[in-house]
Amino acid sequence: MKLIVLGAPGSGKGTQAKFITQKHRIPQVSTGDLLRDAVKRKTTLGVKAKEFMNTGNLVPDAIVLDLLKGRLMKDDCLHGFILDGYPRNIAQANQLAKITDIDLVINISVDYGLLVKRITGRRTCKVCGSIFHLEFNPPSKVGICDKCSGELFQRSDDTEETVKKRLNTYENQTKPLIEYYSSQKLLQTLISDGTIKEMRHKVNDLLEKTFGS
Ligand SMILES: [Zn+2]
Repeated sequence: MKLIVLGAPGSGKGTQAKFITQKHRIPQVSTGDLLRDAVKRKTTLGVKAKEFMNTGNLVPDAIVLDLLKGRLMKDDCLHGFILDGYPRNIAQANQLAKITDIDLVINISVDYGLLVKRITGRRTCKVCGSIFHLEFNPPSKVGICDKCSGELFQRSDDTEETVKKRLNTYENQTKPLIEYYSSQKLLQTLISDGTIKEMRHKVNDLLEKTFGS
C-alpha cells in the first residue's frame, strides 16, 4: 500500500492520512519531518542540508531524495507508506519513481468556495488555543472562548487574502502532478463535500476496492 495523498490546505488531507496510518499500520512519511530530524541528529545529510538552510537556500532535491530513500527502506515501510508533502512537482515525481513504485494517489478535492468559508470562519482563543468556527462550531458568546473565557481572534493564516493566495499556489503546483499521475492511471479523486466521517468512508471504500483489504 504505497500511497500519495494530495489535497489543498484545509482539505482535511492530514486527518484522512492519519486514519489510514492507524487502520493499516503503515507510516506517514513527511519529507519536512525527515529533514528536521536529520538536522537535529546532525547526520551527514542533515549537516549538508543545514548548510543550505543557513544561507537561506532551498535544500537540494538530491538530499531530500536520499533522506527519503533511507526512510522508505526501513522495516516499518515494508507493507507500505503514505507520502506527505512529496512530491511537489514533476521533477520530484520522476525522481521518486526511480526509488519506489507507487500504488495509488488519492486526490482529495474540495470546492474552493467551501474551503475559504471553512478557513476564514475559524476563530482561535488567544489564551488556550481552542478553535471555533463562526458558522460550524460557534462559541456560546460572540468573541469569547467557551473553555476559558479568553478572547477569540482570527489568525493571520486564516484571512481570506492569505487563504486565496495559498490555494492559488497549491493549484499551480499540483495541477501538473494530477495530470502526471492521472496519465499513469494511478490517480483517484475523492470529492470531500461532507463530514470527516463521510470522507473516511470514501477513503476506506477506495482502499478496499484497490487493495482488497
Ligand atoms: Zn480559551
